[in-house]
Amino acid sequence: MYRQGTDGKPAICPVCEIRARLEHSFFCFECGKFLLHKPQQSARRKAMERARCFNPPGFRCYYTGRLLELYDENSPHYASFDHRTPGDKWDLVMCERWVNSFKGPMSEKEFWPIVLALDDWHFKRIPFLIEIVKIAAWHGNKPRRDRRRKLHFPLLPLRECAEFCDICGAKPLPRSKYCAVCAPFYYRCGENLARGAAMKRACRNRVFYCEYTGLPMELEDTESPRYMEFHHPIPGKKGGLRAVVAFVNRMMTDLSEDDFWTAVHEFARIRREGGEFGAAMDFKYWRRTKKARAKRKATRKRRRSQNP
Ligand SMILES: [Zn+2]
Ligand SMILES: [Zn+2]
Repeated sequence: MYRQGTDGKPAICPVCEIRARLEHSFFCFECGKFLLHKPQQSARRKAMERARCFNPPGFRCYYTGRLLELYDENSPHYASFDHRTPGDKWDLVMCERWVNSFKGPMSEKEFWPIVLALDDWHFKRIPFLIEIVKIAAWHGNKPRRDRRRKLHFPLLPLRECAEFCDICGAKPLPRSKYCAVCAPFYYRCGENLARGAAMKRACRNRVFYCEYTGLPMELEDTESPRYMEFHHPIPGKKGGLRAVVAFVNRMMTDLSEDDFWTAVHEFARIRREGGEFGAAMDFKYWRRTKKARAKRKATRKRRRSQNP
């Protein structure tokens, strides 16, 4: 049932200006879904009016310029609202869900230089400058209060002290194969061997370099965007770890390596030459389905109840 206008025809929705509005609502079904009972409704409405296009009818992504998916919530192209500057909740734009996750906590001003630098480093080996990585809204992991207690040392440590740390070559801890810097990373949780191999590959002269950006990684400050993290090349599958900086790990969530570099290259091209995002990505590991979300939530809850 549609609301009647003054001339007897159905009245149109003021946001999309295409579809007729519903009997019980101010908007059409599609627009109402993104506006009604949502926070910052007026900012959302402004973002939708900016993103709207008439030919073909729909909404376009602010970053890729492609038409947004409005019905399938599990699709990576489903419409979402991005905070252009994290913290400023009234400055919203519409974008594809995967772009929102790819951009993460970066502001628009921080996002573009990082994408260009990633593209330059990966395809042309132009060094990634450390000054580019300034992410004001970055929130990493909280520092561990008691690092020792959480380590899973093997049951039978070495009887004698090894001469050099197996990973970086520094002086090892007593009765251990690894030094004070490497041991907390090596023994932190599962997949120790893969972790050790990744660290060995990343280490040159006792400095650890990220495999994807070539940046020196931060080992002490867990809240830095350059903190050393371990990336699974196939999301959700164990093994084959890579030591990468935290902000790249965050960008690669649910994307395969090929998809990630395709996206980086295409975004850099758009930024330099303009145009529309044209590259095909297969999103083989996209897991933002309702089912996966519920599962992740349950895991988080369980972990919190285990170690409060
Ligand atoms: Zn509408
Ligand atoms: Zn070491």
